Amino acid sequence: MTGLLKLRATGWFLALVVGAMPLGAQTRPDTGATLIHAGRFFDSEAGVFRANQDILIRDQKIERVGPNLEAPKGARVIDLRKYTVLPGLIDAHMHLLYLEDPAGGISMEGAKSIIIEGTPLRALHAAARARTFLEAGITTVRDLGNSGRFGDVALRDAINDGSVDGPRLLVSGPGLSAVGGQWPGLQANHADIAAEEYRIVHGPADAADAVRENVTFGAQVIKIYSNNTPNPAYLSVDEMKAIVEAAKRHGVRVAAHATDDAAVWRAAFAGVNSIEHAYRVEDSTLALMAKNGVTLTPTDIDSLTVIRYSEKSGPNGFKPRPEQISEILAGQRDRLRRAVKAGVTITAGSDNYLNLGWPQGRAAKRNLFAYLASGLTAIQVLQAATINDARLLGLEGKVGVLKAGAFADIIAIEGDVEKDSDALERVRFVMKSGTVYLGKP
Ligand SMILES: [Zn+2]
Repeated sequence: MTGLLKLRATGWFLALVVGAMPLGAQTRPDTGATLIHAGRFFDSEAGVFRANQDILIRDQKIERVGPNLEAPKGARVIDLRKYTVLPGLIDAHMHLLYLEDPAGGISMEGAKSIIIEGTPLRALHAAARARTFLEAGITTVRDLGNSGRFGDVALRDAINDGSVDGPRLLVSGPGLSAVGGQWPGLQANHADIAAEEYRIVHGPADAADAVRENVTFGAQVIKIYSNNTPNPAYLSVDEMKAIVEAAKRHGVRVAAHATDDAAVWRAAFAGVNSIEHAYRVEDSTLALMAKNGVTLTPTDIDSLTVIRYSEKSGPNGFKPRPEQISEILAGQRDRLRRAVKAGVTITAGSDNYLNLGWPQGRAAKRNLFAYLASGLTAIQVLQAATINDARLLGLEGKVGVLKAGAFADIIAIEGDVEKDSDALERVRFVMKSGTVYLGKP
């Protein structure tokens, strides 16, 4: 008895010590003063590029921005004048713990991730993927489920304590869904397996309880499936209203997967904060979203991704011709243009969980090329991936902007993105919270 108590006490002491220090950090955090000569600089709030700006960083945050700043004594000086300097990009819709083989399909791959891969290995795989987001210039990610039972929380905590290099994560835990989750073809007598990946809800009281449960176990945002495509079920408006009310009580926001017009309308009517996907949506529903301040995360793919996906989806991978690609992408492009016209705020989120043989961060960033191909300007796209996402995540003033008080999340790309969109692929420098992850300081 006493031996056990002693052991417990030692364990408790160790937990305190370990919790107080970084655990063998992959990249050592830098808390000293830094002055960056930025040259061309993106002001995400104003939506303009500015010239001759310097950024002074201290204690992981931006202290001052302006022309000709003095470097404090002993400060590190970084010259980025030949690049375009941007706030670290944000991806508002990812699933870091899930990677789907295009030849597999969601039910088989989803069940495999639970039964064969398992949450500990998923989290380790996700840690490797997380590093590629930093390398792509994405310094903040909202991760929306498909993470087993809170594997996303573990990954976030490991990034926060310095054990793993990765973007700042805002995580949802398991998404709240009607029976079956997103796995069509599941046998009714094995339906419980979906509860390993989704929080299956039955009625408004249970839906509210699911919010409380997720928040208790570490969720910072609630993900719901207004319709759980590719399965045919819907949450009811009453269930979604109960979720929104419980989320407000716990100070978190609600992101709703909704792929058809009825699912979008009901979720927007119930008061969610963001609609994810909205592949099929009427103008009248977009008008309701604009009126209620519900944002849209168009998880669109670009033509390069379509080609790659086609190549990877089987031994005789279908090779689409340019006109076929345009046909595949016509619907999402039309929907994005209509959403902008209706006054809906566009946020950036990739939802790219496909194994395309690319670093996952790069695959995710192709989402921005989809917006460009739909006719959004480079400035609109950069605002979607910075200031608009920051507001959606409740992190306005902290990320997605280069100004005093914000975290020093700063990237540099080579080239003028307004003239050459491929500049977005040429990330030469990445800093998160004042620590450099890519590029020589
Ligand atoms: Zn998703």
